[in-house]
Amino acid sequence: MKKIRIKEKSFIAWVAAKVLNADQMAMVLGKTIHLHNTSMEEFLADKRWFNHELKHIEQFEQHGFFPFLFKYTIESIKNGYQNNKYEIEARQAE
Ligand SMILES: [Zn+2]
Repeated sequence: MKKIRIKEKSFIAWVAAKVLNADQMAMVLGKTIHLHNTSMEEFLADKRWFNHELKHIEQFEQHGFFPFLFKYTIESIKNGYQNNKYEIEARQAE
């Protein structure tokens, strides 16, 4: 198991939740999963959710930190959040 970090009450996840109008949020940056309005226990108990975010960690590793952020942003602008190919890939991993 690779080293990952989980950060509760994350400011960046709070911002993402506002932008996406989501009640709860998990968001990956590099090897860290940022959580908003969910505890580490609740998050880890949800295998599908956890596997989804693990796929994003894998994507960061595959592409590199900044290249992935860039590619992810371009995908989101072109296709939106739901149809972003990296989100589709992460949903398939759930
Ligand atoms: Zn995702």
